[in-house]
Amino acid sequence: MTQVETAPSNFIRNIIEDDLQTGKHQSIQTRFPPEPNGYLHIGHAKSICLNFGIAEDYPNAACNLRFDDTNPLKEDVDYVHAIEKDVTWLGFKWQGEVRYSSNYFDQLYAFAIELIESNKAYVCELSAEQTREYRGNLTSKGKNSPFRDRPIAENLDLFARMRAGEFKEGSMMLRAKIDMASPNMKMRDPVIYRIRFAHHHQTADKWCIYPMYDFTHCISDAIEGVTHSLCTLEFEDHRPLYEWVLANISIAAKPRQIEFSRLNLQYTLTSKRKLSALIDENIVTSWDDPRMPTISGMRRRGYPAASLREFSKRIGVTKQENTVELASLEACVRENLEANGPRVMAVLDPIKLIITNYDEDKSELLIAPNHPKDERMGTRSVPFSRELYIDRADFKVEGNKKYKRLKLNKEIRLRNAYVVRADDYKTDETGNITEVHCSYDADTLGKNPEDGRKVKGVIHWVDANNNHPAEFRLYDRLFLVDNPAAEEDIHTALNPDSLVVKKGFVEVNLADAEPEKAYQFEREGYFCADNKDSSAEHLVFNRTAALRATF
Ligand code: ATP
Ligand code: MG
Repeated sequence: MTQVETAPSNFIRNIIEDDLQTGKHQSIQTRFPPEPNGYLHIGHAKSICLNFGIAEDYPNAACNLRFDDTNPLKEDVDYVHAIEKDVTWLGFKWQGEVRYSSNYFDQLYAFAIELIESNKAYVCELSAEQTREYRGNLTSKGKNSPFRDRPIAENLDLFARMRAGEFKEGSMMLRAKIDMASPNMKMRDPVIYRIRFAHHHQTADKWCIYPMYDFTHCISDAIEGVTHSLCTLEFEDHRPLYEWVLANISIAAKPRQIEFSRLNLQYTLTSKRKLSALIDENIVTSWDDPRMPTISGMRRRGYPAASLREFSKRIGVTKQENTVELASLEACVRENLEANGPRVMAVLDPIKLIITNYDEDKSELLIAPNHPKDERMGTRSVPFSRELYIDRADFKVEGNKKYKRLKLNKEIRLRNAYVVRADDYKTDETGNITEVHCSYDADTLGKNPEDGRKVKGVIHWVDANNNHPAEFRLYDRLFLVDNPAAEEDIHTALNPDSLVVKKGFVEVNLADAEPEKAYQFEREGYFCADNKDSSAEHLVFNRTAALRATF
């Protein structure tokens, strides 16, 4: 399958097309609203591709990047920068400046006063525990707060004093006056402002009261002229509150909230909170550890941005809850790398191969194609001399018919080079093979041997005298269980082999391998230089994916 980036159709795009056709909207505005409390993950990539994809595909459409920053205790400006970087890397551009919900704190405060003035909000002094008790549950109605009928003037006075910092955290809150008997718990007089004496990464110490998500989000959407506010299904029962707030304040815009199912991915956690715990517990090194399903982790591992966009397109957008196979993400990555990754040679677990009939003083530059199926990718020259490295797994003293590699007294082709025959080998005191001695046939460069000899199999190699040492980090999925989020103890679900480190050699052409640039290491897998740890003095390559699916 080729990766042509065509617009996918889905129920949300159908709604948008209807709205354009009926003239409900002349232009379309979406937004991507991350909370800056962690790094973006593959689930966010789905939401980004949906929101920014719509902005790209419709004329007069745009998408805002808005940080949903109402909880200063959990947020950090480092996350803001990381998120901007990830969205840009994925290939998208937001409209105008980056926005923050905190840009609207003054307006939000004014709208809260409007609600109080129209007797639709009140200052409540119930404790957290009492508030919970009064709220009731799914089977029993809630009870009205004893503070619910406070006179408007008193509410205005107390709310102003909450803002002025006169009251302790938790002692008071502003609540919308809706319906304590509503079957929808979200409508039972939700809290819309709380006291928090916290420094905010954008507004510093200007505020000691902060608006709650449900009050903030809909108003921010309306202020920005968002027409379609797309969110995941868990917000379905927030929608009546979203609409209630906008219906009860003096704002004309009425954005429409539409929910879609979140991405769940096999073997993968998609929750910032849980991913953050993996770092805290030293299970991974950082947010961009190549085993993390974060955008920065996948980038560092070598997943091309286009393959993540392709994946988002293939999984589609629906309201059905489901879990996507990890193999389908990897298939998108492999298809991209197979087409775009130049071939090179690297030996990950080296033993020496000595060609006894090759002149000691001689060395050659052999021409190798960079891609067997794509001539446009050109060729390169690879040094070849009497001593080479091959992979330990590519030589056996004896092997059955299925073992199409080098066997004692048998011939094999060295990729892009000659046919050699293994004549002898040496071992160390523990019996490990340390070197293999062979002889080559000078007449077999670039052509098959004559006299009816059949050479089955090709192995890769690196010149032992002209190469670069390198570290290889072989990554695999972090969890062995299908749904790690359901595990009581995440430790028992870990894959002990999620990272295996090897030390070997790469061909000289990889000396200045650009970080994140994909290569196919012949017969080994897709690799890229690590964007943090690799340098000319110490090359480090991450395995992006094995050549074929292994599970
Ligand atoms: P997390 O639980 O990881 O913190 P979140 O939903 O709280 O996720 P936000 O920063 O609030 O994270 O999310 C920004 C946007 O990304 C929201 O619109 C949210 O619905 C969407 N999103 C988050 N996770 C997923 C997912 N797994 N699939 C699709 N969209 C998602
Ligand atoms: Mg969240």
